[in-house]
Amino acid sequence: MTTSDIANLDKQNYMNTFGERIPVSFSKGEGIHLYSDSGEVYTDFLAGIAVNAVGHSHPAFVKAICEQAQNLLHVSNYYYMKQQALLAEKIVSLSAADKVFFANSGAEANEGAIKLAKIYHYKKGNSQKYEIITLKNSFHGRTLATVAATGQEKFSAPYHPLTPGFLYVPANDLTAFEAAVSDKTCAVMLEMIQGESGVHPLDLDYVKSVYEICKEKDILFICDEVQTGMGRTGKLFAYEHYGIEPDIFTLAKALGGGVPIGAVCAKDFAASAFAPGDHGSTFGGNPLACAAALSVFDIFEKENLVENSRIVGEYFVEQLKALAENVPCIKEIRGKGLMIGIEFTEPIAGDMKHRLFERHYLTGATATTLRILPPLIVTKNDVDQFMKILKEIL
Ligand code: PMP
Repeated sequence: MTTSDIANLDKQNYMNTFGERIPVSFSKGEGIHLYSDSGEVYTDFLAGIAVNAVGHSHPAFVKAICEQAQNLLHVSNYYYMKQQALLAEKIVSLSAADKVFFANSGAEANEGAIKLAKIYHYKKGNSQKYEIITLKNSFHGRTLATVAATGQEKFSAPYHPLTPGFLYVPANDLTAFEAAVSDKTCAVMLEMIQGESGVHPLDLDYVKSVYEICKEKDILFICDEVQTGMGRTGKLFAYEHYGIEPDIFTLAKALGGGVPIGAVCAKDFAASAFAPGDHGSTFGGNPLACAAALSVFDIFEKENLVENSRIVGEYFVEQLKALAENVPCIKEIRGKGLMIGIEFTEPIAGDMKHRLFERHYLTGATATTLRILPPLIVTKNDVDQFMKILKEIL
């Protein structure tokens, strides 16, 4: 099948939720590289939007999935599911959470977090505490509750009436946050670095103050770590940069390294609100997804990927900041670890993304910000090569 055969088949049969796709189809991935059907090599500086943290088709990861698939793909509801128990233990041992629940995507993990926050207050006899504060320009998913949680009209406009109870405040504005808090406030849900809106980190003081208010008023503090989690920002979880421990946080994307899995992770006092029958998932936490995620953690440890993300990320940002001094159309370099945004003074990020693609680099773009999210195995040498191409294009 040629790429245009695939495009035609796709146009005829697949719902067009994406728009015009770049005419290339990939059939193989290896490390930070992708190979097109026609055998051309591309460098992946997007990692499936922060998914392929361990790189494409990492041999140990592939082996773990194959071995699991040979033994058992799926079983639901039985108690002794080794992979699920081991993965929950792993996340608990490395994070602020005491308990974990597995879902199948980021949106589904956020749905679980929202339900957990609501049921926590409900079981305390306070069902009037149902409002959830999120941020303008946030992104929390595409399901009905998460699209309502998402503070961007462009995602929610066609789906009114939205799930009620969400309030949106501007990021890093403590006065606006305080004004939104009331006796009805159930939870606050934040991305420590807003990803989809163009890599916007929250201020340290802002997060600390919001956290203190939450503690004071029995408001659950939820971090959406779907994009920032799993080493992306140079720490295993982005909340670690802020010196706080969220009551609930969610994971997905890189957790499964390409196999769909999400997680709702919570402190015991919140997690215990879920009793048997209150929530569930057929596929959530199946042996294949959990074996994949366990292998991701294993590779992270063996290859020091969180540390690599921090070191190579710092180097990357240094190089970009030095470049920005001589390029007037670059407005700002933002990011932590390997979650990096280059904001331009004009809406040219889409054009930059296309030009980089012509030079065989995959990146992402909002109108004004080029998003760079390479696999966490990337080296300083890979960064140097990218910088050379970026300079030529600029
Ligand atoms: N939360 C954040 C912060 C995200 O970036 C995304 C995906 N871009 C989601 C939630 C939704 O994840 P999924 O697409 O797996 O549902």
